[in-house]
Amino acid sequence: MSELRPDTKAVHIPMPPIDGSRPITMPIYQTSGFVFDDPAVMAASMGRPDGSYVYGRYSNPTVRSLELAVAGLEGGTSAISTGSGMGAINVVLLGLLRPGDHLVAQRSLYGGTAAMINELAERFGITVSYVPENDPAALRAAVRPETKLVYLETISNPMTLVADLPAMCQAARELGILSVVDNTFATPLLCRPFEHGADIVVHSTTKYLSGHTDVVGGIAVFADQELYERAWRFAIELGASADPFAAWLTLRGLQTLALRMERHCSNAEFLATRLAEHPAVTAVHWPGLASHPSYELAGKLLPGFGGVFSFDLAGGRAAGEKFMSSVRLALLAPSLGGVETLILHPATTSHRSLSPDELRRSGIGEGTVRVSVGIEHPEDLWADVAQALA
Ligand SMILES: *Cc1c(COP(=O)(O)O)cnc(C)c1O
Repeated sequence: MSELRPDTKAVHIPMPPIDGSRPITMPIYQTSGFVFDDPAVMAASMGRPDGSYVYGRYSNPTVRSLELAVAGLEGGTSAISTGSGMGAINVVLLGLLRPGDHLVAQRSLYGGTAAMINELAERFGITVSYVPENDPAALRAAVRPETKLVYLETISNPMTLVADLPAMCQAARELGILSVVDNTFATPLLCRPFEHGADIVVHSTTKYLSGHTDVVGGIAVFADQELYERAWRFAIELGASADPFAAWLTLRGLQTLALRMERHCSNAEFLATRLAEHPAVTAVHWPGLASHPSYELAGKLLPGFGGVFSFDLAGGRAAGEKFMSSVRLALLAPSLGGVETLILHPATTSHRSLSPDELRRSGIGEGTVRVSVGIEHPEDLWADVAQALA
């Protein structure tokens, strides 16, 4: 070819190959598609999760790196990264359920998941039954011939109820039903649901896995390759795929997960214990406290009890609102699992879509405050909480 003109040279930038060394960290492959030398390889790669990279909505090396990392931590075979936790949950629910199917879900669910399940019931002809998270007999009683999925959360939001995963997943397995576990609050460092018989694990990677409150993402991890491929086909149709930069931020956060979780757990223990002794507080909900309904199960199932807890103020809604406008270090904000301590009022924010009746059934009071404890020094956090209570 003749010497290219500047207009063309500017478009086709050089991409020198890397020989003899390689990057220490996973690079961000900020490209929407991939170039082929061989049209036959391109044709063979379309529509296959294990083919060469074709198009960013199907897969991307940075995104794949995150999928391998989280699948490895959870002990699954493969994973699908998504643009949000709800994206991952919907890949699973919409990808595996069809009209006429029946779903059994635990009663206390993340607000967004609860809203989505209501939507499935109303608009998509999928029926839903709710059972307690720790009652395999209730699960067996709820199951019908058309039941396809059981949906659980390792640690629930905001009352931190711990699901009896060994009993519930075992029951589902005996009944021939797939079990899906949202492991966002526990992370694979505190619990690996596949070890207890789960089939699919979902995460909002927005929370602990990325850990720095700077990215929204999700992931669905599969124990079984065939199930993964079914969900993958649906995921690319749904268009819920993760962005490479978001995946990269999550990978970067993941490297310090163990250090952060240790501090989140110890800070939560410190604050929960002190709050439980405070006269303005009527109850503290954290599974590491003997007063919590999941205390015994949590002790058997989890090596640590997580960084989220909630507490009830004696003064109800007014006291809750006063507390939230009085903290200085803790930030009034949505989300959780980041390095900063965040607080919110579930009744008016994360769980606003629940009716008063549903709220009561989830155990959420008018004066309930949820705390996602960060990794600050515990005494600084306590000083802030104590001045806000005073
Ligand atoms: C935040 C959260 C989700 C939803 O994740 P997004 O990333 O906000 O879409 C689902 N489950 C749990 C337990 C969560 O905390």
